[in-house]
Formats: sequence, C-alpha cells, structure tokens
Amino acid sequence: MRGTLSKLVLLSVMLGFAGDTEGRKATTIMVSGGSIDVFAPREKGGVAYEDLIQWVNAASKSVATYFGRYPVPHAEVRITTTEGRGVHHGMTFGSPSVRISISVGRDTDLTDLKRDWTMTHEMVHLAFPSMAERHHWIEEGTATYVEPVARVQAGAGPSFACLRTWRSTSEHTIKRALRMPCEEFSPPVATLPKIGH
Ligand SMILES: [Zn+2]
Repeated sequence: MRGTLSKLVLLSVMLGFAGDTEGRKATTIMVSGGSIDVFAPREKGGVAYEDLIQWVNAASKSVATYFGRYPVPHAEVRITTTEGRGVHHGMTFGSPSVRISISVGRDTDLTDLKRDWTMTHEMVHLAFPSMAERHHWIEEGTATYVEPVARVQAGAGPSFACLRTWRSTSEHTIKRALRMPCEEFSPPVATLPKIGH
C-alpha cells in the first residue's frame, strides 16, 4: 500500500515517532546502493527483535537484487506490534522522509516472516514515483508483479523449479502458491500440469 499523508495519519505518525525515539536506537542495514534504519520494538515474549531485523534484511536484498541496487540511498523502516500473528499493515511514504511503516503481530515467528511478502512489496514502492490517485493502480500493479520475482531471484521465495511446476495452473492459484514454500503447496488435482512437455 502506498499513502499520501492525511492530517490524521500525519498525527499518528508523529505520535509513533515520539514513542520510537525514546531510548530506542535504530539498527542500520547496509545493502547495495543504500542503507536502511530499522526501528523495532524489543518486547519480552513478543516477536523477536533479531527476527524482525533479519526480515527487513532479506527484503532489502531481494529488492536490491531485482533492481541492481536499492532504489533509494536511505530509508527508514518503522515497525510497530499489535495483537495476533502475521504482518498486518504496511505503508510506504516518499516524503517528508523516505519510510515504511508496518505492523506485526506479537505472536509472529521467523517462519511467518520468511513467508511474508509485505515488506518486499513495500520496498518495491520505493522504486516507483507517486502517481495521481486515478493512476494508483500502476503503483500497486508494479509492486505486486515485482515482489515475488524479486524474492525468487534472491532465493527468498519459492524456487524456480516450483514456478515452472505452477506455470500452467490458474493465475489465482499461482498467486496463492507464491505466498507459501514450495513443499507446502499442492495444487488442486484438476490444475496439476501435464508432465513431459
Ligand atoms: Zn502496495
């Protein structure tokens, strides 16, 4: 998702920043062509800080691999936690500073984060300019297209062998399959590809 700053969002972002800066130091990830400051909570019993850093690092490498370098010289990733499991909501902003805000459930583990597509999707937005609202589709379309390809190229998504197996399945099935590891994906029998051609 990509957003323009409404007053409400701006207020909540400012409040979020105030909380983040209280004694919290960013971890800086260096990637080809750029650096990313990651602000993430260190909560006992919640999603592990190291796992969050590893997640951002993997997404950064996927995006840098696809584009040949990271799309911007510097970005901030601000992670907040919420109830539940999984990645819930991401937003990318180009101004006043380049940043991604994203929320993660406290019960999320490293396996969940390795399967997640959202962080890579948000980072792909950094490579495309903001369009007028009526052209917003191309921003989401580009990010949706590039994200799985970037993850596969960097070895962070399903393998190319899996993609070949899935190529004759329906578009919907492929999209679903790209969200999970190869070995866990079993397409409906009716859509299994024929072997040998
Ligand atoms: Zn998006």
